[in-house]
Amino acid sequence: MSWETVIGLEIHVQLSTESKLFSGGSTGFGAEPNTHVDLIDMGLPGVLPVANKDAFYKAIRFGLATNAEINQTSSFDRKNYFYPDLPKGYQITQMGMPIVGKGSIKIMVGDQEKIINITRAHLEEDAGKSIHDLFEGETGVDLNRAGTPLLEIVSEPEISNAKEAVAYFKAVKQLVTFLDICDGIMAQGSMRCDVNVSIKKTEDKELGTRAEIKNLNSFKFIEKAINFEIERQIRVIESGESVVQETRLYDNVKNETRSMRSKEEANDYRYFPCPDLLPVVITDEELNEIKENLPELPGQKEKRYISEANLEESEAKIISSSKTMANMFEDACSKTDDSKLVANWLVGDVSALLNKDNIDIEDSKLTSINFATLIERISDKTISGKIAKSVLEDIWESGNDVDNIIKEKGLVQIQDESILESIANKIINDNPGQVEAYRCGKDKLFGFFVGQVMKETQGKANPQSVNEILRKLLN
Ligand code: ADP
Ligand code: MG
Repeated sequence: MSWETVIGLEIHVQLSTESKLFSGGSTGFGAEPNTHVDLIDMGLPGVLPVANKDAFYKAIRFGLATNAEINQTSSFDRKNYFYPDLPKGYQITQMGMPIVGKGSIKIMVGDQEKIINITRAHLEEDAGKSIHDLFEGETGVDLNRAGTPLLEIVSEPEISNAKEAVAYFKAVKQLVTFLDICDGIMAQGSMRCDVNVSIKKTEDKELGTRAEIKNLNSFKFIEKAINFEIERQIRVIESGESVVQETRLYDNVKNETRSMRSKEEANDYRYFPCPDLLPVVITDEELNEIKENLPELPGQKEKRYISEANLEESEAKIISSSKTMANMFEDACSKTDDSKLVANWLVGDVSALLNKDNIDIEDSKLTSINFATLIERISDKTISGKIAKSVLEDIWESGNDVDNIIKEKGLVQIQDESILESIANKIINDNPGQVEAYRCGKDKLFGFFVGQVMKETQGKANPQSVNEILRKLLN
């Protein structure tokens, strides 16, 4: 029998605002537990939430970039449930009147284009975090994340397989990072998604019963979880049983999904309008201002890199397809006149390392500052290109500072002509046979001498100087 897969994604994008959705608490990542918690985030009685304007502006940017309806009046609702990391006993979300309505986004699967429709994108607050592995037999609660603004982007059930789901997730990631509304750091949970999967017979008009897999935060896990789930549902149906509508968890160690709880219905959450917050009204002036100030998107960057930085189209495409890489390119170009050099490093060595680890650049240890310093040290001839490769590999593993690595490992390029000349003389004296042969016309041997000097200096000699000195001494 032939089965067709139907997938819909709910993507939670953490908006990069300074403060939380309803309080002045900081949204900074990685602080000591429970240090970024305001009275409002703790849910103390008597405090009142105030909606964060920046979160609305950022949500609207997403709406504009996806040609979506912007609801200039939107409002908040309470979604009630009990959990230790939700101190108020309810989450404030937008159920009835979300800020962003129907829109769409273009995805690329290989070289095939497909449009995925977006049902809505609404604002809501994140919960805190329960920590189960810190205290023996007890659970800790860290409320730093409680109240962090999320934009939940809900797709229509129009995605047909795991590859398309990943392509859709990547397209959303590209858009939100270019719009400067999310840092896109998946390892820190800045983007997570719930994946809804069902299968049906090709000829069936109605959709099958779906299972929802919660909280996936890597491309790899999204793909694997979906593929496992499709196989599982086929097995269930073909054995004569039916798929149960439920919430499942993906176990990345065993590569399987497991039932977590039966699916709640909306009425289980007793949604009702949040009495503490008035509807939010966005004026025409505000909307126009946001429209006029939309940041530069990938296509525009690509054109600019070709015309201003003289890049090849293929280089410009790769660099402009990721916001973080584009930033790195621009930061490093401010340290050198040689934009081609910067492009070569990003498209060559850096991309090769990303491919090897199958990650995006924001999840690597290479920071923009460190990359710019690396380029600066190549340009000012502190290190040779060859040494720079090993420095990059070191950064990749350790995240260490370029200048520290150069200092600690003694990698500074040897420029002093007298030192290079004495090494070259030593090589010439040690290899009379080769010198003889070279002088009798075996030109290819020149490379041998260069190689020997590089070896003697552990790659630290400036190759240009070595060439000049050897020519002088040999010819
Ligand atoms: P909730 O999960 O909160 O109940 P919705 O009913 O809005 O929310 O659906 C959430 C997601 O599930 C949407 O992305 C939608 O496209 C997807 N979805 C709905 N029905 C199906 C189905 N039968 N198969 C696959 N995905 C589905
Ligand atoms: Mg859901």
